[in-house]
Amino acid sequence: MGHHIETKCIHREGEEVHPYGSVTVPIYQTATFYHPGLGHSTGYDYTRESNPTRTELEKIVSGLENAVDTVACSTGMAAMGLLLELFEEGDHIICTEDLYGGSVRIFETVGEKRGLEFSYIGTSDIEQVKKNIKENTKALYIETPSNPTMAVTDLRKIGEIAKEKDLLFIADNTFLSPYFQNPLDLGADLVVHSGTKFLGGHNDTLAGFLCTSREDLAEKIRFLYKTIGCCLSPFDSFLLIRGIKTLSVRMERQQENAAKIVQWLLKQKKVKKVYYTGLEDHPGYEVNKSQARGAGSMISFKVDSPETAKQMLERVNIITYAESLGGVETLFTYPMLQTHGDVPVETRERLGITEDFLRLSIGIENVEDLIADLEQAIR
Ligand code: PLP
Repeated sequence: MGHHIETKCIHREGEEVHPYGSVTVPIYQTATFYHPGLGHSTGYDYTRESNPTRTELEKIVSGLENAVDTVACSTGMAAMGLLLELFEEGDHIICTEDLYGGSVRIFETVGEKRGLEFSYIGTSDIEQVKKNIKENTKALYIETPSNPTMAVTDLRKIGEIAKEKDLLFIADNTFLSPYFQNPLDLGADLVVHSGTKFLGGHNDTLAGFLCTSREDLAEKIRFLYKTIGCCLSPFDSFLLIRGIKTLSVRMERQQENAAKIVQWLLKQKKVKKVYYTGLEDHPGYEVNKSQARGAGSMISFKVDSPETAKQMLERVNIITYAESLGGVETLFTYPMLQTHGDVPVETRERLGITEDFLRLSIGIENVEDLIADLEQAIR
């Protein structure tokens, strides 16, 4: 039996003793490594390929996601770009319909230009997933809970379909992080993360991860990774290691605050609908409970008018009107203009991502202060 996740965030199993007994991982700020002799290597040759600080981070994330290997990329989008390199012209990928807008953008520009085909469907409905599988379908790309409408997809069932039809099962685990959910344990072949969010946790660094449960994929990914050069810098790797140390306490506190804010939102006359997977009447409540250890701290809600939405965004004080999520600061996002601005209007409207739709990423501030801020903003 390995250690619990709280411990794994701080101590990697099999961690080495660092030079001079440094308790923290040193930042190896170097581009290259000397060779002790012809044909000899210290284990590191060039930082685009690997670097000791980044290797430590990758091993930590592999430990958290139960992966055989993880590559740390400069951003979440860089990890997605790397992922696309695994496909060939003519391949078809089935995706959750309300993915993060940047994922849709990279699929519809870079992906389609390379001859890939994408179908966006409500993956909460497993029958729909089965119906959309074609001769050339090669992968299922899932976000659960989805961004920003919090739709839940049954990861075990997707895993079964992927196995039966020999499809690659990819999950974006950014919203719940490995602290609350481990898709690789439920049948996924690959997990993508925007490490910028909960893993980094402080809204100060961009990062991305691509983790895999399969040795054959790990080998392909490592080759593509060093070829493309989408790596995370040693300093940013250090910041991510530092961020991950507090992942468990941040996630718990963020979730606790989110649950209280959800209860407050439900009592507001101007709030028409709350999207949070921790609510028992959320359609994905049971499935989320069966596959994740929490509901997390992302909340979306609809207000009575676009004016109320705009007023709230403009009036908040300690809550910050900004794109992104997952950090210690509570961020308020207007998906229609920000994260999902590039998603086609028809898709946005069908999903309800309209002018009255808001998203909150709850931080670790005092929850009474957060509620007081929302109260004065909605009044
Ligand atoms: N996946 C999800 C769910 C996201 O929310 C984001 C960013 O918002 C990304 C991927 C992309 O990550 P990054 O911004 O680190 O490039």
